[in-house]
Amino acid sequence: MSVMSKIAPRASEMEALKEVLFRPTGVDGVYARTGLYESVVEALAALISSHRPRDAEVLRFPPIMSRAQIERHGYLKSFPNLLGAVSCLCGDERHIRGVVGRFVEGGEPWTDALEAADLVLAPAACYPVYPLAAARGPVPAGGLTYDVAADCFRREPSTDIDRFQSFRMREYVRIGSEAQIQAFRQEWIERATGIADGLGLNYRVDLASDPFFGRGGQIVAQSQIEQALKFELLVPVRSADAPTACMSFNYHQDHFGTTWDLKTADDEVAHTGCVAFGMDRLAVAMFATHGTDIGSWPATVREALRL
Ligand code: ATP
Ligand code: ZN
Ligand code: MG
Repeated sequence: MSVMSKIAPRASEMEALKEVLFRPTGVDGVYARTGLYESVVEALAALISSHRPRDAEVLRFPPIMSRAQIERHGYLKSFPNLLGAVSCLCGDERHIRGVVGRFVEGGEPWTDALEAADLVLAPAACYPVYPLAAARGPVPAGGLTYDVAADCFRREPSTDIDRFQSFRMREYVRIGSEAQIQAFRQEWIERATGIADGLGLNYRVDLASDPFFGRGGQIVAQSQIEQALKFELLVPVRSADAPTACMSFNYHQDHFGTTWDLKTADDEVAHTGCVAFGMDRLAVAMFATHGTDIGSWPATVREALRL
């Protein structure tokens, strides 16, 4: 069998799956989600909640966040190409009416008059939590744990079924000593593989790197791999050769601690880490693995999801 004939049917299967799960909006990677699809997203969210660490503080963030905070995080150094910023028509009524009028009557682009607001679209769920934690004062000896979620945006338009521009991210975030973060991450890699087993997913956990921008980015990515800062749980959705990262397990060292002046009780810079669940990727992986008829999914999987 040629390589193409192996891949081609999978590609058309993915297109067929997309038609069942989503409705188009006219933009690649931005879809309306069907009730069938959402029922699985909700069931996955409940399953993940059932594993919420004790004492975790729950925070749900809006899909937008402070531009000043994302600038301070250094996001623009690492992923400027992925960031979406909010911009609006500012000024008095006369100015705004003029801009809109010239667009309606003369087709003059109204977007030229946009001004950047103090907001960006959240590129990940955990960014707003570090300044909040810092504002509480020193991190208690037992560390801090958060359960956060947000609708995220990344400017990576694609027709692939597993890459959206707008998607849901759920995270458990840990702030504390290096040992606490390492232990948290190890425990979560084990717990998450247990969850994936229960969901009947094929997967492997592997070292990974973030797609840092530009040529210099490759060096940063290489060092991220060498220091084992990121692991991913990969599921073969579109193909076995290019499996899909459905969860990631991240150790930020003291990066956010230094940025936000997060201190432990003994006045050390706090370390941080997070486990991120790509809710939309997990849902797509479930349908790609078990089919679109939830009634015919393995009984153990339906039980795990209470579906
Ligand atoms: P990838 O390498 O596939 O782009 P990533 O390394 O950029 O993934 P993270 O930054 O670790 O992903 O984001 C946390 C989780 O959010 C990922 O494990 C994934 O499940 C999900 N995710 C990231 N980007 C997207 C996207 N464009 N569409 C859907 N889910 C995504
Ligand atoms: Zn995170
Ligand atoms: Mg990415």
